[in-house]
Amino acid sequence: MPSIEVVANIQDLVFNLDVVVAAQIVTHIEKAVLFQKKAQEIYSILTSGELVKPKMSKRKTIAVSDDIATISGWDSLNIKWKQAIKQNNGISLEQDESKVKNYYLNLKTEFNQYGYQTRVWDLDPKDDLGKHYRSHAEKQISVINLDKPVGVSRGMCEEDCYPYFYAAAQIRQKNIIIADPNGIWVFYPHGQVKFVYRLL
Ligand SMILES: [Zn+2]
Repeated sequence: MPSIEVVANIQDLVFNLDVVVAAQIVTHIEKAVLFQKKAQEIYSILTSGELVKPKMSKRKTIAVSDDIATISGWDSLNIKWKQAIKQNNGISLEQDESKVKNYYLNLKTEFNQYGYQTRVWDLDPKDDLGKHYRSHAEKQISVINLDKPVGVSRGMCEEDCYPYFYAAAQIRQKNIIIADPNGIWVFYPHGQVKFVYRLL
């Protein structure tokens, strides 16, 4: 497992980087933080049941990137939630199980090269191992809205999403920036991972 370098703040994160690269990272971090707030907002709306019923389970996670959002778990996208969030937040809730699965399967050799293999969950169907972990909201949205900053309503899981994005940044040769309630993750194309704790 690659190690994470924890940095105190965004200034330290971009310190000694090329000015253009630093500016791009800061812009992406600002977007990811904004998307994280939106993800939190959508999570609150759907779990409260005030705007739309049925209530969403509190165990679910929402991820947002640009004007798209995903919900963790397959077959979990209720059409009423989709309509309500579109109307209220202008964000389109999407779910595309085969796209997320095929993205991984097509790059399986490359993912393996970087030490990643989708973790198997006890209740995965025997003919579809990895199904559960593939459904994590940040993985879903990173395939639907490739290479864009992401905000997520729950702390990213270190057992599967963390090694996934570590590998994905190297495969794509792009920075991947994800804001969760604890802070901001930056996965670099050369394999470095940095984490900035959420500033108050
Ligand atoms: Zn995860």
